[in-house]
Amino acid sequence: MPIDATQPYDDSNVFAKILRGEIPSRTVYEDDFALAFHDIAPQAPTHILVIPKGAYVSWDDFAAKAGDAEIAGFVRAVGHVARAAGLVEPGYRLLANIGGHGHQEVPHLHVHIFAGRPLGPMLAG
Ligand code: AMP
Repeated sequence: MPIDATQPYDDSNVFAKILRGEIPSRTVYEDDFALAFHDIAPQAPTHILVIPKGAYVSWDDFAAKAGDAEIAGFVRAVGHVARAAGLVEPGYRLLANIGGHGHQEVPHLHVHIFAGRPLGPMLAG
């Protein structure tokens, strides 16, 4: 069920629980600003999620409220994860869903990294 991205941050969401270590994840990368882990229901041969460590509902919330160091750290982490996974030469896709029309389901900002096969046109359905 898509979320309303204008709601305040709810720290009972599944990614907040992963950040607190309350539920497991298959960690790919972690630094002061970001955590990357494999999506539990991969939609491509490589499907990694990168999340900021701060409590932000969506890209909109993050862009409006995060500090410069958090933004730089998160953006660099996404690039690092893709580079370290060897995805730059074959190519990959980044996706961030926001709110209802974006079909965002987890109300903690996350960037999807899809890779491992030709991904086709940008939008389906
Ligand atoms: P979105 O629709 O952009 O909010 O995507 C949420 C993503 O989170 C989906 O691709 C889910 O498969 C993924 N997901 C949900 N729960 C978990 C979890 N516990 N560990 C890893 N990925 C998850």
